Amino acid sequence: MSKRIYLASPHMSKEGYEQKYVKEAFDTNWIAPLGENVNKFEEELANYVGAKYAAALSAGTAAIHMAFKALDVKKGDIVFCSDLTFSATANPIIYQNATPVFIDSEKETWNMDPKALEKAFEKYPNPKAVIVVHLYGVPAKIDEIKEICDKHNVPLVEDAAESLGATYKGKQTGTFGKYGIYSFNGNKIITTSGGGMLISDDEERIAKVRFWSTQSREKARHYEHKEIGYNYRMSNIVAGIGRGQLKVLDERLAQKKHIYDTYKEGLKDISDIEMAPVPKDSKPNFWLSVLTLKENSKVKPIDIMEALEKENIETRPVWKPMHMQPVFKDYDFIKVEGEPVSTELFENGVCLPSDTKMSDVEQNRVIEIIKNLWK
Ligand SMILES: *Cc1c(COP(=O)(O)O)cnc(C)c1O
Repeated sequence: MSKRIYLASPHMSKEGYEQKYVKEAFDTNWIAPLGENVNKFEEELANYVGAKYAAALSAGTAAIHMAFKALDVKKGDIVFCSDLTFSATANPIIYQNATPVFIDSEKETWNMDPKALEKAFEKYPNPKAVIVVHLYGVPAKIDEIKEICDKHNVPLVEDAAESLGATYKGKQTGTFGKYGIYSFNGNKIITTSGGGMLISDDEERIAKVRFWSTQSREKARHYEHKEIGYNYRMSNIVAGIGRGQLKVLDERLAQKKHIYDTYKEGLKDISDIEMAPVPKDSKPNFWLSVLTLKENSKVKPIDIMEALEKENIETRPVWKPMHMQPVFKDYDFIKVEGEPVSTELFENGVCLPSDTKMSDVEQNRVIEIIKNLWK
């Protein structure tokens, strides 16, 4: 059996930057909890994306949770949430005892449909927040979404867990809303083995998030607590990996684009296949290359996934929409009309191997296996 080809696996720098920062932490015995790497990683990431402040946390999910807490999302509040996403976008709404309302996707970016969002505001005029995801690294229609949020005076949170490095009109995803979050989970474009970041231009709120994330310890000799705390801070070792990875982010962006372009070119003769959109005004980060099949294609997503799995090649369906998830069945879902776009994408999509360690030869094998299904 040939070597497994992955969807997206950790890819450390060939220069060994990550180990250098981790070694520094060892040498100074700043293993945990905080230290130079944490401060510097926050600063360097904020600089990269063009945000003022950042809080390094144990996961992207923790960052979403802290964004909602910082916005005082609580019991009785409604939060509008992208329907087509990973459940980690929505779970923190429940952690805060609030109520999600899921918003359908549109076809041009696969993300939150501004028209469905408008419709949601008609039904629920006073949500506490909106969280929009930039799925697979493709920026949402952020201008339109932001305009609607501003008009209703509702803060916007961007789940940019999958889209670090992607830009919309030259500006980084994550920096349009009141809060942005990134993930450094093992499968993301850069990884720290696990971790996340919350960014904002609000210095006071970011300081408050750092406080909550370190158990809400008041300044006192003894342990004094006036608020409920969380153990959500990133460790100094993990932040060292992040600093090293940040140095190769631009290289990874170029590699991910090359992978996408290679699929696009290699599969262009199969008229049943469409590659994920590259919307005008946007530079996706191409975290995963995703295709969809036309409804009447004789080859189905499962055929592609099975053919590749037989060759030890990993694939995945598109995220199953939140409104279809048993755990969220009691919550409302707003769409414009007809069959939900999110459902259609789930049923017709396949995430292709997009590992930056994959060689051109390996990727061409993947393409040939797919093309053979039409022979
Ligand atoms: C990965 C991911 C998250 C969660 O990030 P973690 O660091 O794994 O907690 C949130 N939202 C989306 C869309 C993701 O893909």
